[in-house]
Amino acid sequence: MSGPLDLSGKTALVTGANTGLGQGIAVALAKAGANIAAVGRSAMDETATLCTEHGTRFLAIRADLSSTAPIEGVAAEAEAAFGRVDILVNNAGIIRRADAVDFSEADWDAVMDTNLKSAFFLTQAFGRRMLADGRGGKVINIASLLSFQGGIRIPAYTASKSGLAGITRLLACEWAARGVNVNAIAPGYFVTNNTQALREDPERSAAILSRIPAGRWGDPADIGGGAVFLASAASDYVNGVVLPVDGGWLAR
Ligand code: NAD
Repeated sequence: MSGPLDLSGKTALVTGANTGLGQGIAVALAKAGANIAAVGRSAMDETATLCTEHGTRFLAIRADLSSTAPIEGVAAEAEAAFGRVDILVNNAGIIRRADAVDFSEADWDAVMDTNLKSAFFLTQAFGRRMLADGRGGKVINIASLLSFQGGIRIPAYTASKSGLAGITRLLACEWAARGVNVNAIAPGYFVTNNTQALREDPERSAAILSRIPAGRWGDPADIGGGAVFLASAASDYVNGVVLPVDGGWLAR
């Protein structure tokens, strides 16, 4: 690959890359030429196979991002292997479902800690490095339609993803002039573990499908193009956007 979407010689760190959207993003970035540092709690064997097929390097880093404790260790491991991280993808996330009147403080904290707090402090850790050496970089936060809409039965998730969109804009404002692009992708409804409960509920599943203009749920392979764009030189003058990849859901 060559041209503005070429990521040859770049290293991308993707959190939660063992499955779902994180895996789809890691594979797309590898296909565009990037080496991949894949961070998560479990084995990354399938993602490793899919990424290295494209001839790039792959490193699995074990870390539980429900707290900020592992962040400096993750950065040290990635830098020991690749020297520098050029692209950070904050993808790891969880969802907990209950009516707002019943939602527990424990679920609130778990969702906010993983989806928002760890994403911010991971970005701070890598952003400091990107700014310090003056070579810039790309940060891509995986937001949600719940960055724009309210949803039901997922109060902490909606708060975390709305917060992530806000932090994306704040960091873009602080770092755009210094060569670090911070943007987000808002995936629509994708077939992953995250949406298993919804897809198993025939009524919710049919209601969701009926308002997706593309007429189908997203596949993890559908997310990669937007990620490659936001990771590449093609988006050098794109700052603070939340790009929907949703089959037209928000256009409805
Ligand atoms: P998923 O549940 O399959 O993947 C979540 C990933 O995050 C997994 O790799 C998981 O191991 C990782 N993760 C969770 N907690 C972690 C922790 N404490 N430490 C390290 N890793 C952790 O679901 P997915 O749909 O692939 O979700 C990926 C991202 O996309 C999430 O941020 C999710 O909120 C977002 N998203 C998904 C959809 C969808 O329709 N599937 C829609 C909008 C946004």
